[in-house]
Amino acid sequence: MTRSRPSSVIVIGAGFAGLAAALRLSQAGAQVTVLDQLERPGGKAALGWPDFSSGPTVVTMPNIFRGLYQRLNLPEPLLTPARPTTTYHYAGKLAGRTFAPEALEVAGSLDSTLAQLSRREARQYTRLLELSRRMYRDAAPTFIFGPPPGKLKLARYALTKGGRAAPWAKLSQLVQSGPLLTPFWLRFATYLGANPYKAPAVLHNVAWVELGLGVWHLGEGESGGLGALAQRLAEQAGAAGVRFEYGVTVKHLIRSGSRIMGVHTDQGAFSAERWVSAVDRSLTARWLGQPSDKSPRGVSGFALQLRLEGDLGRAHHLFFPAEYRQEWRDIASGQLPGDPALYLHLDGNRAFVLVNAPPDPRAVADSYAYGAALLGTLQARYGEKYGPLPITSWLPIDPALYALTGERGALYGQAPHGLTGSLRPGWTHPGARNLVQVGGTVHPGGGVPLSLLSGWNGAGQLFGLPYDDLGGQANGPVGATR
Ligand SMILES: Cc1cc2nc3c(=O)[nH]c(=O)nc-3n(C[C@H](O)[C@H](O)[C@H](O)COP(=O)(O)OP(=O)(O)OC[C@H]3O[C@@H](n4cnc5c(N)ncnc54)[C@H](O)[C@@H]3O)c2cc1C
Repeated sequence: MTRSRPSSVIVIGAGFAGLAAALRLSQAGAQVTVLDQLERPGGKAALGWPDFSSGPTVVTMPNIFRGLYQRLNLPEPLLTPARPTTTYHYAGKLAGRTFAPEALEVAGSLDSTLAQLSRREARQYTRLLELSRRMYRDAAPTFIFGPPPGKLKLARYALTKGGRAAPWAKLSQLVQSGPLLTPFWLRFATYLGANPYKAPAVLHNVAWVELGLGVWHLGEGESGGLGALAQRLAEQAGAAGVRFEYGVTVKHLIRSGSRIMGVHTDQGAFSAERWVSAVDRSLTARWLGQPSDKSPRGVSGFALQLRLEGDLGRAHHLFFPAEYRQEWRDIASGQLPGDPALYLHLDGNRAFVLVNAPPDPRAVADSYAYGAALLGTLQARYGEKYGPLPITSWLPIDPALYALTGERGALYGQAPHGLTGSLRPGWTHPGARNLVQVGGTVHPGGGVPLSLLSGWNGAGQLFGLPYDDLGGQANGPVGATR
């Protein structure tokens, strides 16, 4: 792929990665068309009710958002730090504790978090936080920032830093720190789609992104959450000349040798000189006739969008079940967890509830029955401390719906289990010279900021544009503040 005269490009997928790709290509002078089967932009954020996000709720690595807006000469989105980041609630009595707060508030400062712990737990917390900082510092230059690492870069990482990432250990061994803290530390790996009991120890670095670099809400004026942010990015792309075709499902790619000439869709054929696929990588691979990807998928989710009477402010709660491990035994055997950890995101008069689910569109036989059961548990757990949630209506989003955006409903593609499984594929496909693959299932991985990085830079590669970290490395590593 060499620098050349700007040309026509089709981007398949209007999630955050597809939007970032379209914006960069349009800035480079290409004629860009974006195709998406949904009726609006945002991908995983765009299912269910239109004024809600159906996926991402919080902003991490905010410099990447700011960097993107700066590159586009647009006013930056208003971001406010989440304090506390999350309140973790525990079920029942925790064995071995000398005092028992039923909740751990991960507060605005490390000292106030530590003050809620016993001395032994505080020591463990500080040790594991520092370990996550070092693992992030070691891994980020190779696995997050920069183009997909080649063999040489991987070998250099393995020789100089790999030993410190406890390569042969599992995360569940690394973070053993008692009944209060072990599930707390395990949970971060689920943000990459891992079963935390199968995840490699190196995924402990994810904890640093939230605990060290911080968590932000969209500011008060930014209603509608990250779904609305995607909508605005699409409007800005539209104003720059990008054409959006919604309600168009791509069926397969039309090839001539190693070049993609067009796509067949349910709305007819489209042609372009270059292509960006911003859908799940295994779907693109199927379109290209590559052997089907047999590697296990990461977790899916089951979510509820709730409308509330009145404004409950902004907060994040995590309700752990009595036995966290059982949830993952259920998921590993393809079952919906009977008693899962419940994530609750409050955003004014809206709320979003999320539990992990197996990557199987048929996993939920009756979404309303499962949703009602989850709401019963949530009302009991939340209500105990804060009073009942004033829910006026709710809508379930199940793995079958998430399967519109990811193979079998997996939220982050391939399960990041084992050392090779946690390495994300690069931006090219064998046998497709004029196509790049971007998005949360490829380098540098899932989550909105990394999907933006992938879309911006994968698309840049199509025109030989230089790699641009969007200012992301300026996020850290920084001192522990949370
Ligand atoms: C419940 C949940 C909670 C999350 N929480 C957070 C969070 O708090 N913070 C965070 O940063 N990240 C979070 N994430 C992760 C984040 O949302 C994703 O990693 C990111 O949005 C992925 O963006 P993407 O553009 O790669 O893919 P997607 O958003 O999946 O976009 C892919 C697009 O391709 C389209 N498409 C697929 N197949 C076809 C086809 N055949 N024809 C046409 N179009 C097609 C889809 O309709 C979709 O619009 C969460 C995700 C979920 C689901």
